[in-house]
Amino acid sequence: MKSSIRKKDYIKIYNTTNNASPLGEFNCGELCDSICCTVESKNKEDIYSEMVLYMLPGEEEMLENESDWFEMYYETTDEYRYPDSWDGKVYYIKCTNPPYCNRRLRPIQCRSFPLSPHLDKDDNLHLIYDEYDMTYQCPIISQKLDLDEDFIKKVYKMWKRLIEDKLIFDLIKMDSEKREKDKKEMKMVV
Ligand code: SF4
Ligand code: SF4
Repeated sequence: MKSSIRKKDYIKIYNTTNNASPLGEFNCGELCDSICCTVESKNKEDIYSEMVLYMLPGEEEMLENESDWFEMYYETTDEYRYPDSWDGKVYYIKCTNPPYCNRRLRPIQCRSFPLSPHLDKDDNLHLIYDEYDMTYQCPIISQKLDLDEDFIKKVYKMWKRLIEDKLIFDLIKMDSEKREKDKKEMKMVV
């Protein structure tokens, strides 16, 4: 599946969001023992730990020279519900020692959390709290903590750039329409 966002573009996006953090200088992982990285491993009640993250089309190339903190695998688009425009392989990683990773190479999904992109009916981009189908509570959301302004700006700019790609746009649109259809309550940040 060929994305118009190439590796050089992902490098730029990663570079501009490397230091963006939901609560700025404060490491929010201290509030919750990094539950968004480790929730799956905690549920397993064993020493095997893993965290599954999706990679956007082409994003997997960012990890081609890395291997010691995750395992990568893929599904084909007919194995799960993906946008009609998607065809071929969709990559995922499992973090093998969360919350430890190479932070400079953490995927877009981690850079955005606890915010998710949402497109309204006119295709305007918003950021909402990512609490849809959550199996745990992020203290930033549950305690209504103020997000760092720089984080919000950078995450918004990141998604604005990413949805210029049709495949990524289609994914965000599909998720947004599902939320609207399910009439899920959305807390909009932008
Ligand atoms: S769950 Fe929320 S507060 Fe905890 S590490 Fe993740 S983003 Fe930070
Ligand atoms: S890549 Fe890093 S930040 Fe993201 S879930 Fe894995 S350990 Fe956590």
